[in-house]
Amino acid sequence: AKERGGNRYEVADPDADARAITRHGLTNQLPSALRHGEFFVEYQPLIGLEDGAVLGAEALVRWLHPVHGVLGPDQFIPLAESTGQIVPLGRWVLQQAAQQARDWHDLQFTGPAPRINVNLSPVQLSHPDLVAEVVAVLEETRLQPSALCLEVTESALIGADEDALKPLRRIADLGVAIALDDFGTGYSNLSSLRWLPVSVLKLDRSFTRGMRQHPADPVEMKIVEGIVSLAHTLNLTVTVEGVETRTQAEHLRALGCDTAQGWYYGKAGPADQLHTLTLADAS
Ligand code: C2E
Ligand code: CA
Ligand code: CA
Ligand code: CA
Repeated sequence: AKERGGNRYEVADPDADARAITRHGLTNQLPSALRHGEFFVEYQPLIGLEDGAVLGAEALVRWLHPVHGVLGPDQFIPLAESTGQIVPLGRWVLQQAAQQARDWHDLQFTGPAPRINVNLSPVQLSHPDLVAEVVAVLEETRLQPSALCLEVTESALIGADEDALKPLRRIADLGVAIALDDFGTGYSNLSSLRWLPVSVLKLDRSFTRGMRQHPADPVEMKIVEGIVSLAHTLNLTVTVEGVETRTQAEHLRALGCDTAQGWYYGKAGPADQLHTLTLADAS
């Protein structure tokens, strides 16, 4: 049995070994990748459901790896979190995104400043320099705080005590918006919305799957209707993720959702994509 076990161990799933080596390799390469400029940021438009205007964008990081090609965040963010590399990487993304928002602002002569949403890892949230870094980025870019929105996942905040929430509260006090990302995927304590320093709810795309057709799934409609009503009572705005079809967009608009994001409007892409969208919208 021992022999068989040993043999099996050697030949079984060589892919798993390859994956492990790759993971290990990627982890080691993170610091130099940042120094060598291998990361880049793509921007996905955020749309006002009322009039279809482009309100801004969410910044989504990618890694142009010299061997593996473009890697998505799901392939390296968890690694970066486990080694702490997410702290310098996340700071870099914030700087890039804020500067990009500043550039959009300077390009646009009328109307409100385009909003920029940036994801914040729980690891960044518990890092002592976070507040100072946000302040520094706002100063460097001269971006108005209300044009910045930091997205924090529900799971990062669940069970957080008042001390853990302090940095987030201080950032919110600066005028920066805080969004609760992937809302509805964790075990939401709806009453926690009363005291979390959050001003935006981002509904996970799992809520809109049953809205691809007319009529939409009635239970799903009721659930989203209830969440929107609760959110608005608490002065939160509601953004819906993963809107892929016109039908979904129509249902969500009818339900009173404020902002939408998804392939129906535009995938994440280079910053110039937003110029075209905004121009097309204005004409
Ligand atoms: P997220 O914050 O929930 O971002 C939305 C994800 O859904 C993005 O995947 C986006 O490309 C994708 N998406 C957008 N519209 C649609 C749609 O209509 N249909 C479908 N099926 N998907 C859509 P992406 O870019 O692969 O990012 C995955 C996750 O990686 C993000 O989820 C976020 O949690 C994380 N992430 C991305 N950039 C950063 C970053 O700079 N820092 C941190 N800490 N996390 C990041
Ligand atoms: Ca997000
Ligand atoms: Ca999300
Ligand atoms: Ca997500």
